[in-house]
Amino acid sequence: MPTRWFFEALHGDVRQGLAIRRTVARQRTRFQSMQILDTAAYGRALVLDRVVQTTEGDEFIYHEMMTHVPLIAHPQPRRVLIIGGGDGGIAREVLRHPSVEQVTMVEIDPAVIRACRRYLPKICGRAFRDRRLRVVVDDGARYVRTAKESFDVAIVDSPDPIGPATVLFVTAFYRHVARLLRRSGVMACQTGSTFLQPWELTGTYRRLRRVFKIAMPYVAAIPTYVGGMFGFLFASDQVQPLRVTPAQVEARTRRARLACRYYTPAIHRACFALPANVRALVAPV
Ligand code: SAM
Repeated sequence: MPTRWFFEALHGDVRQGLAIRRTVARQRTRFQSMQILDTAAYGRALVLDRVVQTTEGDEFIYHEMMTHVPLIAHPQPRRVLIIGGGDGGIAREVLRHPSVEQVTMVEIDPAVIRACRRYLPKICGRAFRDRRLRVVVDDGARYVRTAKESFDVAIVDSPDPIGPATVLFVTAFYRHVARLLRRSGVMACQTGSTFLQPWELTGTYRRLRRVFKIAMPYVAAIPTYVGGMFGFLFASDQVQPLRVTPAQVEARTRRARLACRYYTPAIHRACFALPANVRALVAPV
């Protein structure tokens, strides 16, 4: 039987092809096209609008770096806001922190949550059954404009700035996120491949610098997000992640009993050591 292939449609001149064992589910939702695919190389994968969102094989790298860098940098994270994140991977990692009392996940597409709970339980784990998690089905941009609550940490786990996610990459959105954060509040978001999508890091960094006193890129290599180093941004008005001493990072990681597959206290610092070509993307203009 000939091998079936899925070709990702994200980068113009670069195509990632994944050998497919089985198409588990396929649906056109109100917001996007959704596929759950069994891939030979990375296990089961969630694909939205023909772009790989997450795979069982390497999701731990992304979810741990998006979660533990901001939560360990924050002195005592209790209330966490997740924008997007319908696969439940970020919520899973956030709920590992005993200090966390309440998590609000604002996901625009309920069909993604349903499909991930059913077909990708390895990613969400018990997150959707944890009483600390509150799921709000709404556009994240609309939610932050109207919400009145306050949070210690906000994690924007959005797809790339296409389709319904475009509104999550504008300055007005970041201003409203900042409004919902308490004084020592921290925000983290993803900025795509630093090599194939350099504008995403540069543009998001400039927008965050208009809103927050501190904005710092960090990186990790995530096999299914092709294009070398993958970028993240950490932002805050008060918390400077590298001012948290190695001893404090160790103690907070131990207190949270975090035994991770990627994130370590050493990685917490190393991920901010940027190669010159990535540093150049956030150089003052
Ligand atoms: N890690 C992935 C990435 O880096 O591409 C993102 C994964 S997560 C599945 C992205 C989620 O954001 C999707 O479930 C999508 O439906 C949701 N989303 C897109 N636009 C949104 C919006 N405006 N408000 C809230 N959620 C949104």
